[in-house]
Parts: sequence; structure tokens; C-alpha cells
Amino acid sequence: MRIGLSGVKSLLGLAILAVFIVLFPLALSNPYYLNVANIIGINTIIVVGLTLLIGYAGQVSLGHAAFYGIGAYTSAILTVTYGFNPWLALVLAALVTSSIAFIIGTPTLKLHGHYLVMATLGFNLIANIIIVQCDSVTGGPSGFPGVPPLAIGSWVFDSDIKMYCLIWSMAFIGIVLGLNLSMSRVGRGLRALHSGESAANCMGVPASKYKVKMFVLSAVFASVAGSLYAHYLSFVSPKTFDIFFSVELVTMVIVGGMGSIWGGLFGSAFLTSLPHLLSSLDEYKDIFYGFILVVILIFTPEGFIPGILQKLDFYLKEKGQRNKKRLDDFLDEPGFNGVAGIPLADSCSSKRLEASNDIILGINNISKSFGGIAAASSLTFDVQKGSITSLIGPNGAGKTTTINLIYGVYKPNLGTIIFRNNRINGLYPYQIAAMGMARTFQNLQIFDNITVLENVMVGAHAISHNEFFVSMLHPPSYWKEEKLIREKALEALSFFGLEKEADLPACQLSFGEQKRLEMARAIVSEPELILLDEPVAGLNRAESITIAGLIMKIRSRGTTVLLVEHDINVVMSISDKVVVLNYGTMIAEGTPIQIQKNELVLSAYLGGSL
Ligand code: ATP
Repeated sequence: MRIGLSGVKSLLGLAILAVFIVLFPLALSNPYYLNVANIIGINTIIVVGLTLLIGYAGQVSLGHAAFYGIGAYTSAILTVTYGFNPWLALVLAALVTSSIAFIIGTPTLKLHGHYLVMATLGFNLIANIIIVQCDSVTGGPSGFPGVPPLAIGSWVFDSDIKMYCLIWSMAFIGIVLGLNLSMSRVGRGLRALHSGESAANCMGVPASKYKVKMFVLSAVFASVAGSLYAHYLSFVSPKTFDIFFSVELVTMVIVGGMGSIWGGLFGSAFLTSLPHLLSSLDEYKDIFYGFILVVILIFTPEGFIPGILQKLDFYLKEKGQRNKKRLDDFLDEPGFNGVAGIPLADSCSSKRLEASNDIILGINNISKSFGGIAAASSLTFDVQKGSITSLIGPNGAGKTTTINLIYGVYKPNLGTIIFRNNRINGLYPYQIAAMGMARTFQNLQIFDNITVLENVMVGAHAISHNEFFVSMLHPPSYWKEEKLIREKALEALSFFGLEKEADLPACQLSFGEQKRLEMARAIVSEPELILLDEPVAGLNRAESITIAGLIMKIRSRGTTVLLVEHDINVVMSISDKVVVLNYGTMIAEGTPIQIQKNELVLSAYLGGSL
């Protein structure tokens, strides 16, 4: 597997960090700073987990100090009160914390908006009150003393320097795991759901499951950090794990840069050491602390590390170096067998393939109402395998609703939908994607926080399998799948003439390119059926002709197409069958020729002529 540029940068970063970790204690004149470095290492472990949760999954938690505290107190109680081995206590603490995180995360992560923030904030307050009130178990407000140090055989981690080695080894491992996850299939899925949860779901990313898993994983990071803290300081007190520390942790993530593991390291190092560095300023230190934070966020609102990297990139690269591919070049390309320059109806009819009689999709009597509006009413039609079937109708006829019903975005009030002989009503979009269906959207839903190539790789989520543990550890099987997905994604991009744009942020593409990107993202999983919702809307004539040609090419690769489109030229030129909707009901079904002569369609839909 070829390691990408980001992989090389990460390896370089890790090498520099490793050297720094080794040399730092040697360069210290004051051993007090070793203690500060240890607290930075502990905070780094929490912040790496929190960065993955906030910056990647897009879920803000104000309760991670509580998970930190649960880890610390569980380790303390198990070792002191019950005489457990400290390592076993650390593992059990992580299990307890992950169970609590699962119980809290499962209901709250289903909700959108600020519910998780409110729920985790409340949880942190409650956890703190419990720690203070249960003084017979936790030692109450005065804390819990006498926690034994960790040890490996007779080697006891009982000094700052020994704990430095242990804490920073764990922090280093945490950073490696975090980087691995962030660059993996799961990391792409998390960033996709951060950018657009519904679209990510439709690409096969199980958004709710991923959010809960990420929440639990970040809680485990916090718990391990808490256990290390307890065994390092041998004393735990409720003050350390209060809501203010949760806010400080989130601030570390934001200041460092939300979508960057290196940013998390910077945020943790900077905000943990700043009060110590400013201690000589006495009563003015809080003013300076606030002032420095404000300055950082004004000049690098995306966070310090991403901000600095972006500015470096800007100066290193030539301005406007991008060799933007014009549509004309694309049409003239030797490999492109599109229909440019030829009237659509003539060009495409000759290329029309025979559809089989097998039915790949059966819509049986489905209805869907929104309040008093019947968006789909007793719709019944079939899509033949290997065909291009078009769904047309005036605005508000129910076309997109039908697509959303088929794809599981909406549940029908009545009726059944059969895909490849399976009833798919009630399934979630990510489950339907895994069965071999893909789609595009009427309103573009590009993941604009990742590159063009990564967008397409997210499209392959449904046909790939690297999950959380594999994505963190990167065993050989991981690389094998990544290589395959990358090759497929590059092939899909080149099919749509976007291979040169692969490494650009997706938000830099033009509207027409983004339309093609959505289609590339949909075909990468080699679906049996693809639902295209207005693929030529907003495009000029030449672009529409290009897309029409590409739709025919998609069909010639063996994918059945269900097309929703207003452009009658495109529809009549490339469709095998046309289904016409009006006010949620089907008013006609037939070949393009039949539809063009259908009186009902002519009067009800177009008021005279097609
Ligand atoms: P267009 O060609 O303009 O995209 P369409 O044929 O795709 O139209 P739909 O978007 O399916 O039509 O809408 C059909 C009807 O259902 C419209 O009256 C619309 O307002 C309504 N509708 C669709 N989605 C929703 C929703 N989520 N909530 C409420 N009403 C909806």
C-alpha cells in the first residue's frame, strides 16, 4: 500500500515527537517541569479521544472530566479498598467507564443539536455530586488518599521520571491510535457524518452506531488517563474532575484545532503549561491567559495547528496552481465516449441497451403523507434490471419523496418496496446501501470537509469492512482493503474526469464538478441500482449532454438506473421506461414514445407538448 502524503507527514511528526519525548527530560534544569510534562501527557490522552469525538464525529461533550474522574476513582477504590492489582484496576476502570458512556451515549447521541452537550454537562454535575456525597466509598470532598503506584514486577513507577516514561509512552500510543483512526475508513466515515449525517448514512456509514462507538472510545481514553493520574499522584479529589475541567478540555481541543490530533497535543501542552509559565505575573496571569486565547482564536479560528499548516501551505504552493479541467477538454478526451455535440435523441437511442425482464425494484402500493399532503399515493411500478427508468412530473409531484422512500430516508405509511427479492421497508439507508443500492441528491450533499478522493472512498463504505479496532491498529488486512478502495475510488474519479482533482478539498470544485463527484461517489460501490435525483439540474446544455452520456455508460457497466429529472430531452433520449407522477399519484407509465403521445401526460403535466 502506498502511504499517502498525510501518512508521510504523520510518520515524520511521530518521529519528531518521539525524539522530543526522549530528549525533554535531559534538557530540564528544574524537575518541577517534569511534573508539568506528566500532567500534559495525561491531558493529551484525554484530548486525543475528545478530538476524535468533537473534531471528527462532530459531537461536543462537556462530560469528559467525569469519565476521567470515574477512571481515577475506580482505580483508586479497587486498589486501596479491594486490593486489586493496579493494572487490573486500570482495565476494569476502563470497562466501567465505557459501560456508563454507552448507557449515556446511546439515547442522547440519537438526538441532534445541543442535547449531548446538555446531557453530558448534567452527567458531569451528577457524577461530581455522587463523588462528594458518597464519602464512605470515595472519601467525599476531602478526597481519596493512598493510591498505590503502578509497577511491572519489581519495577515500581514511583518517581516523576519513571511516570514520565510511562505516561508519555501511553500518550504516544494514544496519538498513534488516534492518527491511525483519523486516516482510516472509520475516520473518513466520522468526518462524513460530521459534514452531513443523512448523506453519510446513505453512503453506508451507520451514523448513530459510529457516534456511540466514538463516544465510548473517547470515554475509555479519559478513563485510562484518570487511572494514570490516580496512580501517579496517589491521591484523587472531586475538584479535579468538575465541570470546569470539562470546559478546559474542550478549550484544548478548540485552541489546538478541532479536526487535528496534533492540534489536540498542542492544545493540551499549551493550556496545561500556560498557567505555570504565567505564574510570575501573579494577579495579572488570568488576563494574559484570556488574552492569549483570544489572539489565537482570532488569527487561527480553525485552531492553532490547522491554521498554521494552512498558512504554510498557502505560502508554499503557487497561487492558482490548480490546473482546472475545463468541460471542453473533458468532452474531447479520447477515452470519453460521450454524446457531445450530437443531438441527444439521435446519439443515445442508438446506444440503448436491452433491459432484462427481471425486476430489480418493485414499488407496491406505497403511500406517504406529510400532514395533509399526500406526497406519494398508492404508487406501483417496477424497475427492470439493466434499464434506465425515469421518474418525471411537475414540481411537488412526489419524485424525491419516492426516492427517499426507496432509500429508507422516509418510511412509507402503506405498501411494500422489494429490492433484489428482499423487502426493504423499515431498513435504514446504510443497510440499503449495503444491499447494493446507491444514490445522489437533488440538493448536492458533498462532504466538504474532506478531499475529492476521500469523498469517493466514503462512497465505498458499504462494501468495505475495516472497523474501529482494525482502523486503529492497521494490520496487513487493513492495508489490503484500503488499497482496493483507493483504486476503485480513483477509477470512479477518472470515469467522471475528476482524477486530477483527487487531492483537492471537495468544497473547491465547481458546481458541475461536484455533481460529477456525487455520481462518482455513488458508482464506486458498484451498486446494482443507482438512484439519480436530478443529476443535470443547474447544468448548461453541454454539461447535461455529458452527464446523459455518462448515465448511459453507468448502465452499460451493468448498473440499473432510476432517474429523477426535469430535463425532458435527457429523459426521452436515454430512458427505457418513463413513469409520470402528478400530485403523488402515477398518471402514466411506458416507453418514451408512448409517454410523449399520452394525452393525460400532455394535458396534466406539460399542458400540451413534450
Ligand atoms: P421537485 O421536482 O420540485 O423536486 P418533487 O416531485 O421531487 O418536486 P417532492 O419533493 O417529493 O416533490 O415533494 C412532494 C410534496 O411533498 C411537496 O408538496 C412537498 O412540499 C412535500 N414534502 C416533501 N418532503 C417533505 C417533508 N419532509 N415534510 C413535509 N412535506 C414534504
